[in-house]
Amino acid sequence: MNVVNDNSCSWINDLDKRSSIKTLDKDKSCDWLIVGAGYTGLSAARKLSELHPGQKIIIVDAQLAGEGASGRNSGYLVDTTLNDGFTSNKELTNYKKKTDIYRLGIDAIKKFIKEHQVDCEWNESGKYFASSNQKDRKKLENFSKTLLKLNFEHDILEKNDLGKRLGTNFYNLALYTKGGVLLHPGKLVRSMVDMLPDNVELLENSQLNEWSKNNKTILCKFNNHKITTKKVIFCTNGFLKSLGIKNNYNFPLTLTASMTRSLTDTEFKSIGEPKEWGVLPIRPMGATIRMTKNKRILIRNTAEVHNSFKMSKLDLSKRSLNQILGIKKRFPALPDDIIESSWSGIVSRTRNSSQIFDKIDDNIFAAGCYNGSGIGVGTLFGEQIAIKASNKKSNEINIIEGRNKPTRLPPQPFLDIGIKARLIFERFRSQSDI
Ligand SMILES: Cc1cc2nc3c(=O)[nH]c(=O)nc-3n(C[C@H](O)[C@H](O)[C@H](O)COP(=O)(O)OP(=O)(O)OC[C@H]3O[C@@H](n4cnc5c(N)ncnc54)[C@H](O)[C@@H]3O)c2cc1C
Repeated sequence: MNVVNDNSCSWINDLDKRSSIKTLDKDKSCDWLIVGAGYTGLSAARKLSELHPGQKIIIVDAQLAGEGASGRNSGYLVDTTLNDGFTSNKELTNYKKKTDIYRLGIDAIKKFIKEHQVDCEWNESGKYFASSNQKDRKKLENFSKTLLKLNFEHDILEKNDLGKRLGTNFYNLALYTKGGVLLHPGKLVRSMVDMLPDNVELLENSQLNEWSKNNKTILCKFNNHKITTKKVIFCTNGFLKSLGIKNNYNFPLTLTASMTRSLTDTEFKSIGEPKEWGVLPIRPMGATIRMTKNKRILIRNTAEVHNSFKMSKLDLSKRSLNQILGIKKRFPALPDDIIESSWSGIVSRTRNSSQIFDKIDDNIFAAGCYNGSGIGVGTLFGEQIAIKASNKKSNEINIIEGRNKPTRLPPQPFLDIGIKARLIFERFRSQSDI
């Protein structure tokens, strides 16, 4: 395994380059080791520092902190989801549990940005679950009934209204929820890196290759050095499986996205100067598409099993072509060469779309697997797994632990065959909205 990402993500390229990056350059020991510095790991580190000001806390990442999925996602902080992966939300009690967790996730981020005065282009704009296909009306109406029962404010909108709000006549119907925030994911995670407390040591470009438990300590081996720790928290999300964590419960998927340059004033006027908006698809493999604050269009319309973690330039450019087609379908008047950057990122899935929040063994903990909704939930799970690992209790932990637990995956080769077949089937069903 080698964890590297492309360096072509607009969100990350918007940020200032960081200096004084520290790597693991000698053997070390600590009280706490956190592996993975995305929203989950950084939030766990922040919380541990508060709970144990006198203890030695190290957080490591294989690449630069925050530059995995946390810095390269689509920036929807959700209060509700229609398709969580491929799982529809049919059962009210479970759906409520899921949205209770989303709500706590939003609260956790709100608290963080308020406390640290973070500018992450926060916009409580709500979101649209939209489709070009009238056949999706029934699904939307059923979703509306679920939301009504749980008191989520929403409206069903038709083509004309959508055209005015989104600047495209592509969509025929949508359910708009008032809840849900759009933000700049790179700015959010960078602020978590910048705000790491002084008693947390951050070591980057330092990949954990192997770990083992010996009596009361855990030995973690990196390329040239090792860290011996009393407790470890794994926060590597799409890479949990490659470290042998909950192997039979999670698997990685690779997503790709593209972002256009900012539209010119003339281009923006030609589509009616819409306010910032975010559309999620009604079918799982349809496109997620967003108009950002500075008039860029983001599109994400792939999810696949990809053999290596790093996508080659050629593979990425094939997906980027697909994304320009997705943009042209919706905005035919925009030029073909408008994409500024394309990138890939790894998410983690479980069979029933439930998250991992677990004690793996004495002194060994893991949190992750949020599918496409890890901004809030990752932040929440990071803070709460730190509390759990410190043998403390919280109301949030009770709510998290009341969720459905991830179910066991089928063995190989059935797992790979099953995932690939499902992705092809769902892609076919979503064809019109890719
Ligand atoms: C294209 C895309 C769009 C998405 N859109 C959304 C969205 O709109 N809304 C939303 O809520 N979520 C979205 N997500 C999902 C969201 O980004 C993730 O759920 C979230 O970032 C998970 O955070 P994390 O900290 O658990 O994991 P990550 O951010 O993946 O961090 C894990 C870290 O672990 C490090 N690591 C891995 N292996 C090792 C190792 N062996 N040693 C050391 N370090 C290691 C990695 O380098 C990485 O930095 C999207 C994801 C992608 C890829």
